[in-house]
Amino acid sequence: MVKVGDVHIGGGHPIVVQSMTNTDTADVPATVAQVLALARAGSELVRVTVNTRKAAAAVPQIVEQLGEQGCAVPIIGDFHYNGHLLLTEFKDCARALAKYRINPGNVGVGDRHDENFRAMIEVAIEQGRPVRIGVNWGSLDQALLTRLMDANARRAEPRDAREVTLEAIVASALESAAMAERYGLAHDQIVLSAKVSGVQDLIQVYRDLAARCDYPLHLGLTEAGMGTKGVVSSTAALAVLLQEGVGDTIRISLTPAPNGDRTEEVQVAQQVLQSLGLRHFAPEVTACPGCGRTTSTFFQEMADQIQTYLRAQMPVWRTRYQGTEELRVAVMGCVVNGPGESKHANIGISLPGTGEEPKAPVYVDGRLTTTLKGPTIVPDFIRILEDYVASRYAKR
Ligand code: SF4
Repeated sequence: MVKVGDVHIGGGHPIVVQSMTNTDTADVPATVAQVLALARAGSELVRVTVNTRKAAAAVPQIVEQLGEQGCAVPIIGDFHYNGHLLLTEFKDCARALAKYRINPGNVGVGDRHDENFRAMIEVAIEQGRPVRIGVNWGSLDQALLTRLMDANARRAEPRDAREVTLEAIVASALESAAMAERYGLAHDQIVLSAKVSGVQDLIQVYRDLAARCDYPLHLGLTEAGMGTKGVVSSTAALAVLLQEGVGDTIRISLTPAPNGDRTEEVQVAQQVLQSLGLRHFAPEVTACPGCGRTTSTFFQEMADQIQTYLRAQMPVWRTRYQGTEELRVAVMGCVVNGPGESKHANIGISLPGTGEEPKAPVYVDGRLTTTLKGPTIVPDFIRILEDYVASRYAKR
């Protein structure tokens, strides 16, 4: 188990959701605003790039301003190329950060690699901060890859280049962790990641990593992409691994649409964990896809309104009641599957389909309790939901 601020990673603790900003870290107001948005969306750790002296100088201000706004989310610094210089020169930055991410492929070559890596590890030890050794196949340690490729070429039956590359990714993470420990970093101050952008490659790499070490693992499909492709690829890869018990913290690396919402990656991460039943963050709305039996878009709009309402309520409910994130709500398009699905939910409603009587039966804890009709179905249903939450969940 590794402790990052007050957040525990690994050791049987709930899988942690994390995210990364895409603002210029030197732009303090923009970065503070985005960290706040990510934290409010549910990100339990937030990483910022620390790529320049201005960015390093900005980090303490960012952390201070977040604290002034009541946000204690641990901030992780992402370092490439010049991390050894920034961490040693900007002590306030090193202190303000809760964890350092070091990419062993981007810390210099030859002797400089080891010296630079050691400099960062020594700062981590001095500040009592954990480190994520984050390998990425886009910046894989070329000296290591060449060494493994050469060794492979000497084998009687050489493996294909893909296999050697995946082995190099795992070896880079493990050898770097061993090196960090040789330099004095405690075993329980190390998290590993080894990100690739192919689903099958990621599964293979993490299975291998999990079998060969007991460090907490940070999971994520790197460069997952935009929209549906990014969401589905990340989910496909992470679901397989999480189901096998591999992974202690996750990030979904979505490319947002221009001016898109950065918090989408947090929502997807939460939904992945919730869909697998590993954690609960918000009430689950079960809605049927609709078909020729639904006469209008009314039921889609209602499902959307209920989902939006529940998301908006959660911050309030979480402070007032215990367990509301496990509430299950069904919004169904007609009576074919509506009552059955409603009975499996805490509260369910079936809207009238084509040719059905214009009324909507409501089930509470599996029992038909009332039938709604007319233009006030949505507010009436929301009132029933509010009464249910107030009466069924213990007050905090
Ligand atoms: S519940 Fe009714 S409206 Fe929804 S998909 Fe099934 S048959 Fe169609």
